[in-house]
Amino acid sequence: MKHPIIIAIDGFSSCGKSTLARDISKELGYIYIDSGAMYRAVTYYFLKNNIQLADSAEVQSAVEKIHLHFEHNNGNSEIYLSGGNIESKIRTAEISERVSDIAALSPVRRKLVSLQREFAAGQSVVMDGRDIGTVVFPNATVKLFITADLNVRTHRRFKELRDRGINIKKSEVEENLQHRDHIDSTRDDSPLRKADDAILIDNSKMNQNEQLQLALRLIREKIAN
Ligand code: C5P
Repeated sequence: MKHPIIIAIDGFSSCGKSTLARDISKELGYIYIDSGAMYRAVTYYFLKNNIQLADSAEVQSAVEKIHLHFEHNNGNSEIYLSGGNIESKIRTAEISERVSDIAALSPVRRKLVSLQREFAAGQSVVMDGRDIGTVVFPNATVKLFITADLNVRTHRRFKELRDRGINIKKSEVEENLQHRDHIDSTRDDSPLRKADDAILIDNSKMNQNEQLQLALRLIREKIAN
């Protein structure tokens, strides 16, 4: 492939980034990389192995032991830790509660940013996260920054968890989203922010297909130029 296309999608928690990224990748035949799943996988490892976040030597040595890869299938991707599929283990309330503290650690970010570039090398990809357009791929072909009202995001996330049989109060979901957004936007290393050249999409009043059609139009315009 002559010029691999990179589509970077950033934004706040539960604003529909992954759904959009997956839809785009299916439509355009690009690989989808869920960078949030990578931070969740590291969190899963840290909690399982009781890694002390304040002990930088312990954090560094844990980071070196972590082996992640994705398997891609028709626009879907599943994450593996040391060869085992952990996709169903990384979406729990416990992981959501702790992930932003672990994602704020520089050794963790260094390792995952380098892996994200490696996973994307030489192919057209859609990657969603918090620092894709600012840090991981500052020269991405297209950068989208997604937002939605907090109550819309809370409702969507609550419904998604309830549909998966997870019993949680709506107020807890809202607190977790606010908590993660706060840590993600205020951390020293690679805070969540809109890249200057990212296109802002507020999808509070859009359905999934409207959002996809808008994104595809923006992407096609950008590629044509
Ligand atoms: O995308 P998702 O909500 O699964 O991400 C979980 C957490 O991982 C985020 O709240 C954030 O703390 C972290 N993250 C990050 N940088 C990324 C992707 C995710 O810091 N590129």
